[in-house]
Amino acid sequence: MKAMLTIRPNCENCDQDLPYNSTEAMICTYECTFCRECAKDILKNVCPNCGGGFTPRPVRPKEQLAKHPASAVRVLKPVNTTEHQKVLLRYENILPKNR
Ligand SMILES: [Zn+2]
Ligand SMILES: [Zn+2]
Repeated sequence: MKAMLTIRPNCENCDQDLPYNSTEAMICTYECTFCRECAKDILKNVCPNCGGGFTPRPVRPKEQLAKHPASAVRVLKPVNTTEHQKVLLRYENILPKNR
């Protein structure tokens, strides 16, 4: 089976719903999923899990969802802001492509 993008149903930080066709969903290279506000305002475009940047999650066409459904598993791991400050010190001022 081909590896495919896991479409998680919520923001890992604030738990708001991010359905498969949400234009607010942002992902890192490991599919850590956050809403746009959390990714930008709280995380400053630094993934707390891997240090990478975020990109908008592509919408999977409805027809494809029948074969490859979105995940129903909610991942919730609110960001520890003290810990994230350390991650930010390391990565915030480096463009994702140069991290
Ligand atoms: Zn959020
Ligand atoms: Zn990540």
